Amino acid sequence: MNYLSTKAKALTPYVAGLQPQEPGWIKLNTNENPYPPSPKVVDAIKNADISSLGLYPDGDSTALKEAIAADLGLAPDNIFCGNGSDEVLALAYQAFFSGKDNVLTPDISYGFYPVWGSMYDVGLKTVPVDEDFSVNPDDYRDAKGVVIANPNAPTSLALNLGQVELILRQNPNGVVLIDEAYIDFAKVESAVALLGMYENLLVVRTFSKSHSLAGMRIGYAIGQPKLIEALRLVRDSFNSYPLDMLAQTAAIAAIKDKAYLMETIAGVKDIRDKTIPRLQEMGYHVMPSQTNFLLIKTPAAGELYNHFLGNKILARYWNKPRLNDCLRVTIGTREDMEVFLQCVQAIALATRKKQR
Ligand SMILES: *Cc1c(COP(=O)(O)O)cnc(C)c1O
Repeated sequence: MNYLSTKAKALTPYVAGLQPQEPGWIKLNTNENPYPPSPKVVDAIKNADISSLGLYPDGDSTALKEAIAADLGLAPDNIFCGNGSDEVLALAYQAFFSGKDNVLTPDISYGFYPVWGSMYDVGLKTVPVDEDFSVNPDDYRDAKGVVIANPNAPTSLALNLGQVELILRQNPNGVVLIDEAYIDFAKVESAVALLGMYENLLVVRTFSKSHSLAGMRIGYAIGQPKLIEALRLVRDSFNSYPLDMLAQTAAIAAIKDKAYLMETIAGVKDIRDKTIPRLQEMGYHVMPSQTNFLLIKTPAAGELYNHFLGNKILARYWNKPRLNDCLRVTIGTREDMEVFLQCVQAIALATRKKQR
């Protein structure tokens, strides 16, 4: 007897990077931050009123919305909070794309986008990125919706503000969702600068990458109040309390500790910018990253992945068209990256010996 619903039978779920539960791994596979959360986050959680955990949390994350809005120079009704940006994205699909045709997204992007497409009956169309993996704004016109990660993953490349604006102007009849999971590591400006001018713009962000809080599941959307209201409508038809009390407390402390955020972002970018030339010296082609990860292009990507695995280093590899000669490597601590680079070096030496 097969008890699955028609819908469940048809699903192909997203496959996340491995989260090994035993110690000893160098984990460069899911773009987590190598720095711990701010000490102020730790204090805020320690000092939280545990007795109030008997009560439901604030379903609308009022204080967190205020903190995010203040940080961005916006109003709380421009902000929507969810249980990780994955949840915010899923709710946005339901609010703006469900049942619609011609919703466009790049063919090389976040693996979850097509999964929500089938989950929520979206006529999602993938648009091939250019040969060099860049998104071409000209390819996005007259759509009923657009979903783009900017900077994009796993390409690590970004559109500038002018290019994002072009996409907004070319698609007035659909919500243009810009997933800014990696914007804090980028040189390009955030699309939030365009918010006042485009009612079809929805920006989604997360505390998982730049704020070192992947384990607390905090994400948010930024948009004009009409779009935010639609997200609330869908949320309240699904889960009225997406963020637990401690997550809200942690996120508020994280957003207020700007100095720590800036310092750790600068640290990740510095490690990134020192790792790239060392890989290039060894003959690898590395995309010019605007994120906290590197995309390395090499015909030996699959073998490299397995070799790293054998050395207890986790990277990310997709055995699928256009990506099977690429390896994604998250920026880890300086020490992690040293071990990683030594492993790459050892492989290079071994290959040279074999060729002799
Ligand atoms: C990591 C990531 C997310 C998910 O972030 P969470 O807030 O941890 O759910 C969403 N979009 C992109 C492009 C990501 O890389």
